[in-house]
Amino acid sequence: MAVIITDTCINCAACIDECPVEAIVDEDDNPTGEEIYYVYPDKCVECVGYHDVPACAEACPTEGCIQWDDPVEGMPVSENRGAKGEPVIED
Ligand code: SF4
Ligand code: SF4
Repeated sequence: MAVIITDTCINCAACIDECPVEAIVDEDDNPTGEEIYYVYPDKCVECVGYHDVPACAEACPTEGCIQWDDPVEGMPVSENRGAKGEPVIED
C-alpha cells in the first residue's frame, strides 16, 4: 500500500477530488465493505510528481486519519514518507 485511510474517516469527501490519479473512492465503492473512504494502493503514487506532500492528507480535516502504509512494489515512493502507521501529516 501507499497511503491508507483509517477508520477515523468521517466521509467528508474533502480528499477525493484532490487526488491527481483518482485513487480514492467513497464508502459506497470501498471494496473492503467498510463504511469509509478507500485508497487503491495500486493507483496511489504518493503524489510524487504532483505535490510535495500527499494532497489527500493535506485536505483531510481529521487528525491522523490518513497514514503511511508499506510501499507498493513498482509504484512511486515519496522521499518524505514515514513508517507504516505514521500519520502522513503530523498535526
Ligand atoms: S497520496 Fe496522492 S496519489 Fe495517493 S491517494 Fe493521496 S492524493 Fe491520491
Ligand atoms: S478527507 Fe479525510 S475524513 Fe474526509 S473523506 Fe477523506 S479521508 Fe475521510
